[in-house]
Amino acid sequence: MSEQMGPRESILIAGGGIAGLTLALALKRALGAGFSVIVADPAFVARQARPDTRAYAVAAAAQAMLQALGIWDKIADGAQAMTEMVVSDSRSGDAIRPVFLTFDGEVEPGQPFAHMVGSGALIEALTAACREAGVDLRGEGVARFDSGESGVSVVLGGGEVLRARLLVAADGARSKLREQAGIGWVGWGYGQSGLVATIGHERPHGGRAVEHFLPSGPFAILPLSDGGRLGHRSSMVWTERSENVPALLSLDEEGMLAEIERRFGLELGEIALESPVSAHPLGFGVARRFVGERLALLGDAAHLIHPIAGQGLNLGLKDVAALAEVIVDAARLGLDPGAADVLEGYERARRFDTVAMGAVTDGLNRLFSNDATPLRLARDLGLGLVDRLPGLKRFFIREAAGVAGAPPRLLRGEAL
Ligand SMILES: Cc1cc2nc3c(=O)[nH]c(=O)nc-3n(C[C@H](O)[C@H](O)[C@H](O)COP(=O)(O)OP(=O)(O)OC[C@H]3O[C@@H](n4cnc5c(N)ncnc54)[C@H](O)[C@@H]3O)c2cc1C
Repeated sequence: MSEQMGPRESILIAGGGIAGLTLALALKRALGAGFSVIVADPAFVARQARPDTRAYAVAAAAQAMLQALGIWDKIADGAQAMTEMVVSDSRSGDAIRPVFLTFDGEVEPGQPFAHMVGSGALIEALTAACREAGVDLRGEGVARFDSGESGVSVVLGGGEVLRARLLVAADGARSKLREQAGIGWVGWGYGQSGLVATIGHERPHGGRAVEHFLPSGPFAILPLSDGGRLGHRSSMVWTERSENVPALLSLDEEGMLAEIERRFGLELGEIALESPVSAHPLGFGVARRFVGERLALLGDAAHLIHPIAGQGLNLGLKDVAALAEVIVDAARLGLDPGAADVLEGYERARRFDTVAMGAVTDGLNRLFSNDATPLRLARDLGLGLVDRLPGLKRFFIREAAGVAGAPPRLLRGEAL
């Protein structure tokens, strides 16, 4: 090894989103003081000024991993179990919305298939745990890097040069690092945006998640822990055609609430906005490779999917479990964690699952964001069929919970 390339035991993660921070914590916890883990992200500075108000559905397998890493107990109080899921198909003006599919949301008795978790609380808990475990957190981005046979040389935004055995690109869907590595991206935009807000309501949601399939796309109401002005809260993820979004965002609060109410329905009583409405353009994409020379792509940097099934972050956390496992296994044997065969193990573990989930969410969105009558009839028959077959429902629940197949150790809730 060339002296220039720095210690054998060092990994630099570009991007301190949920995926990057969880990987850093898993590695540091398993490999300890002799192994240096650095996370670089300019957001460590910006986040303090602008807290994140989004919420995510965290599947049972990802929850088990957060439990094994000691994070779940820190966020459990604010998490809301999803105990039921209801899917309806309708036009937004319809007074009565036919229910086509219901799931009671338990993978095993007493284990809900997902919990809604605040993104801000999760990032805060992960950041504090990383700091406590000795992860080196840098409030600067990665400007560029240069991979060589024995290591990678990384230049931070301020000009400092760091050396590591492996660079992990966890820098989101528009990953500059992926681009710099020359790794292609197969993807397209949906011409849709996700409008996200916290909605307060008068009546309790009872842990029920509701997804109305409206012609412009799915409208999801996901249960949050109680609180706010009206006592109860849900997270709204409203998929809308992007061309309609500027006009919607320019509405005053009363006008916006009226638009939300038309789609939200009346079951939960009076509603109120508990946060500003933010808009996120939606797209699909998968990197042509998940690894390069001394480089691994993680989370949205490797794949971007439609939020229709609430699985984007969960896919990223599955990447974390698989990458942490191959790195830790190699490091414990004294092997180079950035070597090509180690990285190939990661790519093999993740590519098929990612492409499969991407295809399912893409297909669901295309099927449901459409008002053509024959298509409505076909999908309604399809949903009705799933509803009547408990075996098939169980299959879907286990897939959504991330516990199907033979998951890596962290996803089974085991320590590395
Ligand atoms: C409307 C909507 C609803 C969603 N709902 C769900 C849900 O219910 N469940 C679910 O599982 N998923 C959901 N998702 C998907 C989820 O938001 C993403 O999959 C997840 O946030 C990706 O996490 P990440 O850590 O990979 O990337 P990001 O969260 O994008 O983090 C990337 C980080 O990299 C940093 N960065 C960028 N460039 C650099 C650089 N050069 N150097 C260093 N750092 C850099 C950024 O500052 C950022 O902090 C939803 C998405 C949308 C749009």
